[in-house]
Amino acid sequence: NTNHRVALITGANKGIGFEIARQLGEAGVTVLIGARDAKRGAEAAARLVAQGITAAYVPLDVTNITSFGAAALLIEERHTQLDILINNAGIWKIKEDGMPSVTTPSVIRETMETNFIGLVAVTQAMLPLLRRSDSGRIVNLSSTLGSLNANSDPTNPYYSTRLLAYNASKTAVNMFTVQLAQELRHTSIAVNAVSPGFVKTDLTAGNGFKESAEGAAAPVHFALLESNAITGRFADANGDIPW
Ligand code: NDP
Repeated sequence: NTNHRVALITGANKGIGFEIARQLGEAGVTVLIGARDAKRGAEAAARLVAQGITAAYVPLDVTNITSFGAAALLIEERHTQLDILINNAGIWKIKEDGMPSVTTPSVIRETMETNFIGLVAVTQAMLPLLRRSDSGRIVNLSSTLGSLNANSDPTNPYYSTRLLAYNASKTAVNMFTVQLAQELRHTSIAVNAVSPGFVKTDLTAGNGFKESAEGAAAPVHFALLESNAITGRFADANGDIPW
């Protein structure tokens, strides 16, 4: 029964995050739209409410500890606990990210700050609330580009893509996922890294094979898993991805 579950989705004002929120909302989950921009966040929540979904905007910038600290307090006040955390917010510096010989430290730093350090810090802030749930689920948006296997095997279809900052940030997300899953293995919380596939969004400048609704499907599947036995995985819609 998902009817009384509460989910926080970071970066939910557009793209895959918005679609994850919509689909969780359609499954009866109360969805909290984490967004760093008040106007975009409030508009996204209003769009879902207009579709009959229980949704609310929560101010949340994953690079600002004051912001997500306040978000955790707000969620505690309103809902006491959190059942689902979708770490979706992410960036790709499309023009500056590139080959490992030339990608600048500032691009690497900015990408890691949002995609990895921010994700870890938000998770740490929300964990006390997730521990109060009897079926906590953490879904970290990852990518096949973060696969060490895909970056080293010339026969792998993703082999030609060399994006040092973005790929490394997702590899780091995968590391956090397996470590946290191990640490929490005796709790009711499951932690998984999920790739949405190549999705047409602003992040990819509209390139991709899937629309956001299709990209949201695998993350939503892992968020709604009945059992906490599936944890510490790196997967997409087709199953496990080689690390
Ligand atoms: P979009 O660019 O469409 O959306 C990204 C979202 O993250 C936006 O809501 C953006 O907010 C938000 N965001 C960025 N920085 C922050 C921050 N500091 N604090 C809070 N929110 C922030 O991207 P996608 O929907 O494509 O990507 C969603 C996730 O899926 C990312 O983690 C991405 O790496 C991952 N992914 C995407 C793939 C694809 O093909 N599209 C493939 C594999 C993984 P704002 O509107 O304010 O900028």
